[in-house]
Amino acid sequence: MSEAVRVRFAPSPTGHLHVGGARTALFNWLYARHHGGTFILRIEDTDRSRSTEEHIAAILEALEWLGLEWDEGPPATGYRQTERLALYREHAERLVAAGAAYHCDCPPEQLDAERRAAEAAKVTFRYSGRCRERGLAAGALRLRIRDDGAPVVVRDLIHGVVTFERAQLDDWILVRTDGTPTYNFCVVVDDVTMRITHVIRGNDHLSNTPKQVLCYEALGYRTPEFAHVSMILGADRGRLSKRHGATAVQAFRDDGFPPDAMVNYLARLGWSSGDQEIFTRPELIERFDIKDVAASGAVFDRAKLEWLSQEHLKATPPARLAAMAAPFIARAGLPVPDPGRLGGMLAPFRERAKTLVELVDQARFYLERPAGYEPRAAATLLTPEGARRLDLLVARLETLPAFDAGAIEPAVRALAAELGVKLVELAQLARLAVTGRTASPPIFDVLETLGREETLARLRAARAAAEAPA
Ligand code: GLU
Repeated sequence: MSEAVRVRFAPSPTGHLHVGGARTALFNWLYARHHGGTFILRIEDTDRSRSTEEHIAAILEALEWLGLEWDEGPPATGYRQTERLALYREHAERLVAAGAAYHCDCPPEQLDAERRAAEAAKVTFRYSGRCRERGLAAGALRLRIRDDGAPVVVRDLIHGVVTFERAQLDDWILVRTDGTPTYNFCVVVDDVTMRITHVIRGNDHLSNTPKQVLCYEALGYRTPEFAHVSMILGADRGRLSKRHGATAVQAFRDDGFPPDAMVNYLARLGWSSGDQEIFTRPELIERFDIKDVAASGAVFDRAKLEWLSQEHLKATPPARLAAMAAPFIARAGLPVPDPGRLGGMLAPFRERAKTLVELVDQARFYLERPAGYEPRAAATLLTPEGARRLDLLVARLETLPAFDAGAIEPAVRALAAELGVKLVELAQLARLAVTGRTASPPIFDVLETLGREETLARLRAARAAAEAPA
């Protein structure tokens, strides 16, 4: 029986969650969900000078927004490295007891001088091993690497076999002189004690992997499987950064991209399944395999994200649309209608909006009364004759037994006939009066959605405008 999959996403809270990190988290999550495994969140906060509570909160919030729920991790489980220092100490002691680690008291100035000399000679700096056999009881703790000449081999699920010459590796520091464990050591102890089966992370960590592999071996643990995911690139094929535009996940949320579209887009960055572009979450879970992730960098393409966003909006049921749009309405300082009504207001615009921000903008006339009327149309429609017609319209609509499109249309039609004008003329007048614009979804639907009270209030306001001296 194969071992249950356990994967982790291990952000360092030194900034917001950016799209590269989000994609790494997503690949871990998809892998766990595909295999019915466990997705773990671990906060790598040992760099205390750069880690902040605000960044941790922002990362959790971004993961929640993306819908990448974790099975183990904060706040329920204390998977923060700063809470696990005893564990690192214990493992360090084990390595010392086994003779697999030794203390070193080489002064930093000396090491720096040796590093500079190596740089000048254009060779990789390696620690000399000076303290290897000194049997010191204190100082920095170094891993004793067996110098058997055999290369360190990493079998990567994305890159295949990657070989590192042992000559490039040295007795690296596990614990600093001040007693703080180093990053690579914490990662190994964490991955071992959390029983991680697959380490899926950014390929900027590939160069750390041989060091970590030697530490697994020294501790007598089996190495997990590794998969190093390529970096996300900007259009110039440089590593994606702020100079290419927004990179923080929150910025995409604030721009109104639905989380499902973001997840779909990030999944397709470097991963594919046939030529399918649009995926629901269950489809992604069903199809995803880490082996199908491309080894080369993937270029971030905002236009494609927008296209996918539109496709997802089109397929979103009105109730969900209402729930997703509500924060944007509140942000614009407008009252949020109840979900049933809001869904009806937004649904007709689904075909045309690329983001929730655009969707709310297009439906905005429902949410606030017109601040003014389109001037050219107002000049011809909001006249004394227009005022008279608006009065008649108000009178008809006030007394309609039911206020729905099916009842409104014949009433307006009958009034047009009585006035001897075309239906479209009255419809255009009503449209200008209630929306301030000359284009909108079918006007009788608009009136129904606005409701009787609001419709009448807007018609009366337009009537007052028609009467006001120009
Ligand atoms: N904390 C590392 C980072 O944020 C990830 C390390 C790992 O996944 O092993 O890049």
